[in-house]
Amino acid sequence: MGPASTPIDVLEKMIQAGVDVCRINSSHGAYDDHQKVIDNIRKLNKKYKQHTAILVDLQGPKLRIGAVENGSVEIVNGQELIITTEQCVGNNKKVYITYKQFPKDVAIGDRVLIDDGKLLLKVTATNRKDTVKATVVNGGTLSSKKGVNLPNTKISLPCLTKKDLLDLDFALKNNVEWIGLSFVRSVTDIADLKDIIKKNKKTSRVIAKIEKPEAVKDIDGIIDLADAIMVARGDLGVEMPMEQVPLIQKMLVDKCIEASKPVIIATQMMESMITAYTPTRAEVNDVANAVMDGADAVMLSGETSVGKDPVNVIEHMQKIVAAIEKGGEIYNREHAPAITTQTFISDSICYNACVMARQAKAKGIVSMTNSGYTAFKLSSHRPKANIFIFTDNPILLNTLSLVWGVRGFFYDKYESTDKTIADINTYLKKFNYVKTDDLVINIASIPMKEKGRTNMIKLSYIK
Ligand code: PEP
Repeated sequence: MGPASTPIDVLEKMIQAGVDVCRINSSHGAYDDHQKVIDNIRKLNKKYKQHTAILVDLQGPKLRIGAVENGSVEIVNGQELIITTEQCVGNNKKVYITYKQFPKDVAIGDRVLIDDGKLLLKVTATNRKDTVKATVVNGGTLSSKKGVNLPNTKISLPCLTKKDLLDLDFALKNNVEWIGLSFVRSVTDIADLKDIIKKNKKTSRVIAKIEKPEAVKDIDGIIDLADAIMVARGDLGVEMPMEQVPLIQKMLVDKCIEASKPVIIATQMMESMITAYTPTRAEVNDVANAVMDGADAVMLSGETSVGKDPVNVIEHMQKIVAAIEKGGEIYNREHAPAITTQTFISDSICYNACVMARQAKAKGIVSMTNSGYTAFKLSSHRPKANIFIFTDNPILLNTLSLVWGVRGFFYDKYESTDKTIADINTYLKKFNYVKTDDLVINIASIPMKEKGRTNMIKLSYIK
């Protein structure tokens, strides 16, 4: 979201064209702007009885240079540039950096990348107090407040900065469904954020943005604790050699599917459409490949936040996703559950429901859930059947909009198992999600009133 997509009429068309989750990037805009966006999404959800989710993305320890004279200056190869922690308006000899510990944390020879790696410097000296000297290796235009990446430096900033804590407070007050954490370095970053959410008695779920080599190393622990993963290819391709990003993307998607965690592919998916009316063929292939890899979501940034026609971008992206879902090999990625876990019974029911759905060409797998557990599990097997989830938890309905293939419905009657299943199947038929003689697979927890873990499975034809 951004200025181009904030007007409610634009947002309305974007949602109608296929948007499931709106990201608010805390790096940009003011709380008033964000509040307007949140209110508009909630308003449209009510109007259309939809469940568009909100993701507030925390900036994390993003480093930036300060303002420079006239907004931008030129730096040339071979020249020296001084980087200082003393606040000043920069020029082509000296710039301010927002990271106080920089002179202490950096070592001679470390690389300093600015503006998504467009500019490259190499550190030649540090006084370990307030000044670092660097040689320009790749020069060019240095604009105000551009991001800085330090791929070789161990950064001593906490993952949640003072600004993040304020942004988090705003997000939690608005009960947003998803919170993204940038520059995650270890599993403890996720644990710290989850602790704060829990202390505030909120249910927002956490997306770990993978954009640091440290996070790639600690990936199993991070996937295990986070609720979802974002392949943040913009910064990842600066922090690590960019040619490694495609294989990391595939590895992350595979691991997330295995762990039943949603995974988002982000950045530069339709970049040319910030200004163009059609995507490049390479961009079409990139989106298509993300869908074929098995991603839950493909994300847009500048294309819809500041691009010239956000609705047109969504329409193009939606067409690509639909074409690949129709013709691509993306379904039936069943993975048998481990028998030693506490959740084995419900895991096994979800797994077998998907196996049966494939064998019997079922039209739908229908589940009731309060926590969302079975929705995440069913989705991870990527069944070709629709996944219909019924819940009495309205926040969960929005949350599930991020999850592959899931369609959620509000339902709060807890009668006998037979009656509830009949009721739900009748509802699906009434609203044309299934028709007479379609085979559906219902999974549930019996006795229903206890709202326990899923432990039963039933196959039936729609009457
Ligand atoms: C990225 O680096 O790919 C990314 C998603 O970051 P940002 O939140 O800065 O857009």
